[in-house]
Amino acid sequence: MKVLAVLYNGFQAAKEEPRLLGTVENELGLRQYLESQGHEYIVTSSKDGPDSDFHKHIVNTDILITTPFHPGYLTRTLFNEAKHLKLCITAGVGSDHIDLNAAVEKQVQVIEVSGSNVVSVAEHVIMSILLLVRNFVPAHEMIERGDWQVSEIARNAFDLEGKVVGTIGAGRIGYRVLQRLVPFECKELLYYDYAPLSPEREKEVGARRIEDLKEFASKCDLITINAPLHEGTRHLINKDLLQHFKKGAWLVNTARGAICNAEDVAAAVKSGQLNGYAGDVWNVQPAPKDHPWRYMKNPLGGGNGMVPHYSGSTLDAQLRYARGTRAILENFLTGKAQEPGNIIVGLGKYETKAYGQR
Ligand code: NAD
Repeated sequence: MKVLAVLYNGFQAAKEEPRLLGTVENELGLRQYLESQGHEYIVTSSKDGPDSDFHKHIVNTDILITTPFHPGYLTRTLFNEAKHLKLCITAGVGSDHIDLNAAVEKQVQVIEVSGSNVVSVAEHVIMSILLLVRNFVPAHEMIERGDWQVSEIARNAFDLEGKVVGTIGAGRIGYRVLQRLVPFECKELLYYDYAPLSPEREKEVGARRIEDLKEFASKCDLITINAPLHEGTRHLINKDLLQHFKKGAWLVNTARGAICNAEDVAAAVKSGQLNGYAGDVWNVQPAPKDHPWRYMKNPLGGGNGMVPHYSGSTLDAQLRYARGTRAILENFLTGKAQEPGNIIVGLGKYETKAYGQR
């Protein structure tokens, strides 16, 4: 079989740190295993445009491995060319870079390493919430500049205690975020998700479901997005919905960049409708140098907590998704059943309810 992996370049860091497994250099640690079984293994970071390695190799690839951190976009057009393709493995969580409806039609399975980095992301969400609410980034920048003016920072710094925090999506990550928020003694924890939590799970974290998105938005001081990107969530956060947010609310998005309209969010931060926006996911990755989310600031010069896409790519997470990728490959190559929770698209049908109500 021909196995193609599209990963990000790790450069010098990956040569010095072998635990950066999800890089081109370290190949998810799969080369010896695959070649010893007689399979061909191609690894590349070249993914965009007709001359990329991804587009050239996909025509006779049997198994495609991609990662959300450096997404190789498997469009319907590429699916039409990928005549040998049987299996797409996502090394990580989130398979929106694959045209899942095309995968269903073409009977190509899409399997991800569910759960592999959900704690990593939940921890990043808590960090992002705190850095926005406490106005951390401008405070640190002030120190690096050699300045010291407490009032300039304190005028926009708050406690998380007593605030209303809501999550869009209360699945593996969203629920872990709620669990981690409990000790902060927020005024209320809310969630918006078409899949309600069981009464026991709601009680465990003291969360309340709001069924109407505008009502949900209007109640929250801070919203964190933890739902997959699909037809029902693309540009869910736009100019219209942002008008229903409380003035000066904060927004954290570690789910997918395209769940937000980038220009609308940047304008809301600039006007102060949002006091801040933080996250690691972008509508285009790598993000272009002139992307508005790199530079947006609120009227007081803060409110930007953006970083590159790495919250789910800690060294601990990389070990888990590399091992998980190997397990999926072994199952496939030896005809064993896959973990049900990992299957996004099975043979000809969606196996998850998380990618929209259909
Ligand atoms: P999950 O499948 O366990 O949970 C997703 C939840 O979102 C489900 O409860 C689902 O019902 C809900 N949902 C779906 N559509 C919705 C909608 N329109 N409105 C409200 N809720 C909706 O997934 P998870 O493990 O919690 O991961 C969620 C997403 O986080 C992934 O799909 C991925 O895009 C993203 N993620 C990002 C990183 C990162 O490094 N930044 C890492 C892992 C996952």
